Amino acid sequence: MRPFWIEQALFADGSLAPALQGATTADVCIVGGGFTGLWTAIQAKQAKPDLDIVIIESDLCGAGASGRNGGCLLTWSTKFFTLRRLYGEAEAIRLVKASEAAVGRIRDFCVEHDIDAELRLDGTLYTATSRAQIGLLDPVIAALSEHGINSYQHLAPEEVAKRSGSARNLGGVYSPVAATVHPGKLVRGLRRVAMEMGIRIYERTPMLEFNSGECVTVHTPAGSVTASRLVLAINAWMASRFRQFERTLAVVSSDMIVTEKCPELLQQIGLKDGVSVLDSRIFVYYYRSTPDGRLMLGKGGNTFAWRGRIAPVFDQRSPYEADLARSLHEFFPALRDVPVTASWNGPSDRSVTGFPFFGRLDDAPNVFYGFGYSGNGVGPTWMGGQILSSLVLGLDNAWTRSPLTRGPLGHFPPEPIRYVGSIAVRDAIRRKERAEDEDRQPWLVDRLLSKLANAAGKSDKA
Ligand SMILES: Cc1cc2nc3c(=O)[nH]c(=O)nc-3n(C[C@H](O)[C@H](O)[C@H](O)COP(=O)(O)OP(=O)(O)OC[C@H]3O[C@@H](n4cnc5c(N)ncnc54)[C@H](O)[C@@H]3O)c2cc1C
Repeated sequence: MRPFWIEQALFADGSLAPALQGATTADVCIVGGGFTGLWTAIQAKQAKPDLDIVIIESDLCGAGASGRNGGCLLTWSTKFFTLRRLYGEAEAIRLVKASEAAVGRIRDFCVEHDIDAELRLDGTLYTATSRAQIGLLDPVIAALSEHGINSYQHLAPEEVAKRSGSARNLGGVYSPVAATVHPGKLVRGLRRVAMEMGIRIYERTPMLEFNSGECVTVHTPAGSVTASRLVLAINAWMASRFRQFERTLAVVSSDMIVTEKCPELLQQIGLKDGVSVLDSRIFVYYYRSTPDGRLMLGKGGNTFAWRGRIAPVFDQRSPYEADLARSLHEFFPALRDVPVTASWNGPSDRSVTGFPFFGRLDDAPNVFYGFGYSGNGVGPTWMGGQILSSLVLGLDNAWTRSPLTRGPLGHFPPEPIRYVGSIAVRDAIRRKERAEDEDRQPWLVDRLLSKLANAAGKSDKA
């Protein structure tokens, strides 16, 4: 089963690139045809047009998280405290600004290259769906204001309910610096532009293994690529493939549903543009309309991958479809009779810090990697492309000097503790948030366990 967005995008662009047959060479080989791999290739090629780049993708470009996400193109502004704690104030400010600039750069790229990614620059609403969530973002907004980088404004509760289309949102803040996109069309559009730039792409071509050395040879089922530099852009698949990264990720699903078209109803409830709406729980609810009049709703933090292995459940209809439909009807009673068209999920690469990390393999300095976007990668993968293309080209700039290039900043405990611990924390969060939804005081133990997951959300609160 293909996730909804990819099916739609393939319907529009149909063609698959050939699988690699035989041996080939390149200056740079990139493994993984999601946003990270494609932005890296495109930005490296823009900087050095004669660079010969090959991308190999095990399935088809966009088959991973890039073709199945919520399409909420967000910034890192709400994570300012964590950025500051990890990387220092100056870098935190730079990264917030860069993440905001990425929104415009992605929009400009789509316009320049005629990618119809349905990008709507209508901002984002961070809301509270329980009294406990009200005001959670106030401290970070105050800190952003102090540094002259705040794009948020508080809205009156009735305005939040109106703009978000749901009275379940009790309060919230709005930033115009955010967009929504059709992720399938964006990733397939990047693929098309990459090929037009002369980047060679092989789909249905998994990397089986590679031999490192001055030149790296990547072996695939029917061929090989030998290149002086290799970029690993395989996201959630990194943890199970490399011992060095085994404990750097918790791979967890985000699950989504999308309804049949109901444009009149969306107009009536007030969802009139491309705003994304996220509440302030740890595993957030996120939703938005689509330009053709559907409603998409998602929620993270559901199925965890044992030892980081991507099980078949990540490629099926969401096991949480009924829960998501119930939540959708709680948000939008008016949509109760609108059928759900599709549900799906996908593997998200949660790092300990909630931020991606980049670097070179311990024993192979010409092999670069970048992953760990933690469910917030649509915009940040553009920055990932800046980092990885700069590293590949051997540049000395703000991206290669960034502490983001110093590899993982934390490790999860080994299995089975990681898996059992993840489930225990997830369940504690569920109990805590259910209590808050019902205006009850959560158990202390659930509050304490929930704190362990705070860093990895779409926003942070302290
Ligand atoms: C369900 C879901 C909802 C999300 N919603 C949002 C959202 O609304 N907003 C947001 O900002 N972020 C969201 N994210 C996160 C975002 O989608 C990711 O951070 C981003 O797409 C990561 O891009 P990537 O290129 O690094 O990884 P991927 O897109 O996962 O690309 C990795 C690619 O590597 C390929 N691959 C793996 N192993 C091999 C191999 N051995 N050889 C060759 N190729 C291989 C895979 O097939 C895949 O195509 C969501 C994620 C999920 C799963």
